[in-house]
Amino acid sequence: MTWEPVIGLEIHAQLATDTKIFCGCAVRAGDPPNTLVCPVCLGLPGALPVLNARAVEFAILAALALGCRVQPVSVFARKNYFYPDLPKGYQISQYDRPLALDGALEWTTGETTTRVGIIRVHLEEDAGKSMHDGFADSDRHSYVDFNRSGVPLIEIVTRPDLRSAADAAEFFERLRAILVELGVNGGNLEEGHVRCDANVSLRRAGDGTLGTRVEVKNLNSFRYLERALDYEIVRQEAVLEKGMRVEHETRLWDVATGRTVVMRSKEQAHDYRYLPEPDLPPLAIAADRIEAARARMPELPDARRQRLMVEFGLSDYDAALLAGSAAVSRFFESVAKSSGRPKAAANWMTGEVPRKLKESGAGIEEAGVTPEALAGLIAVVEAGTISGSMAKEVFEKMWGSGRTADDVVRGEGLAQIDDRETLAAIVRDVVAANPKPVAQFKAGKTLVFGFFVGQVMKATRGTANPAVVNALLQRELERQ
Ligand code: ADP
Ligand code: MG
Ligand code: ZN
Repeated sequence: MTWEPVIGLEIHAQLATDTKIFCGCAVRAGDPPNTLVCPVCLGLPGALPVLNARAVEFAILAALALGCRVQPVSVFARKNYFYPDLPKGYQISQYDRPLALDGALEWTTGETTTRVGIIRVHLEEDAGKSMHDGFADSDRHSYVDFNRSGVPLIEIVTRPDLRSAADAAEFFERLRAILVELGVNGGNLEEGHVRCDANVSLRRAGDGTLGTRVEVKNLNSFRYLERALDYEIVRQEAVLEKGMRVEHETRLWDVATGRTVVMRSKEQAHDYRYLPEPDLPPLAIAADRIEAARARMPELPDARRQRLMVEFGLSDYDAALLAGSAAVSRFFESVAKSSGRPKAAANWMTGEVPRKLKESGAGIEEAGVTPEALAGLIAVVEAGTISGSMAKEVFEKMWGSGRTADDVVRGEGLAQIDDRETLAAIVRDVVAANPKPVAQFKAGKTLVFGFFVGQVMKATRGTANPAVVNALLQRELERQ
């Protein structure tokens, strides 16, 4: 009997506002510790929170993009727990009346459509950050940096609709892309702009009820999420196969050992004693504010992928690669339109261009060629002036130099040689200079034909028209 994994995710995404959610302190990474703080985000007695309208705007955009219903009234609540990085002793979050309910994220790959329900999207504040150092008892210190305290977050909770670690990672990746596209999230995983808690349980395939779940906390990379879930699925399967029960517990992913380890069991679970936040009125969102946000919504990656397929006849695969970023897609569309060759444009934009960008760690904004220049290169290839492999060399010379394809081809004498007279002379020379391979060819070793082609290409620095060379060589060798 096989076991079916059931996975639900809780994702915290930092909202890309200039200031914190309940005070005017700047939201910025990399400043000296405790320099972006005030009485509100330090939780000093008597300080009162004032809600950041921009954070609400961003949360509404995210909720709408996920197909959620934004509630006309939502309520902030205090989530009480003690931790040194939580100066007030409670986090301001939303509980039984969240900002938005009931959406879904759906995507299609080939024939398969995956739909993941979204239970809720709510607003909350981030806590500070604890740091520990020293190993010997006498030398152990802990520090708290409150720069992050009060940074606006949304929490997005999915239904337990995911059925594999790979799908969970894909969901996380797609969600991040959407939030970045909306301009509500910076998308930097290392800086914790998006972080994921993963809930996973197993059940007998076909069983209608859910098994006991384990929560793996704080996964901040797609790969860690996938590996942690894969590990957890195998671990739980082994437990269940032994006839034992999976403990309802919270675990952590240990990068060093590639395993999940127990953080706390259910018995140690917090009782958060949620209470409505008395210092903030209920959050009322008027219908016209929701409609205004809807009107501002940019094209999202999945819609863009479908448009690229329809408008440019791209494959699902190419379209998905290009649609991941609005800037890459814009670049591609510009090349496709100027050259009139969308397929060739897609090849460059999924091959050589990202390869070069990766070399220097640059983004598409810093590409070493303009869309017009790349379209020019495609035109030169289409006209048969240079071969496909020569085009890569030309591209290399264009990159970062501001030179056009025409300029490189002419300047470096790279234009394809089609002239039969010229090529015939070179072919004769090559054949004359290689009596041994000629003898082999005549003895029936036709494979050495490739050797002769190579020699001609070498002599012409790859510029010889291959079809003409083949014909000329065939004739010249038969004549020997
Ligand atoms: P809690 O209140 O403890 O956070 P929730 O009901 O909010 O619990 O669920 C948290 C997450 O866990 C959601 O993403 C949900 O889809 C997921 N989840 C709930 N039950 C299960 C289960 N049995 N197996 C896997 N995931 C689950
Ligand atoms: Mg929860
Ligand atoms: Zn502050």
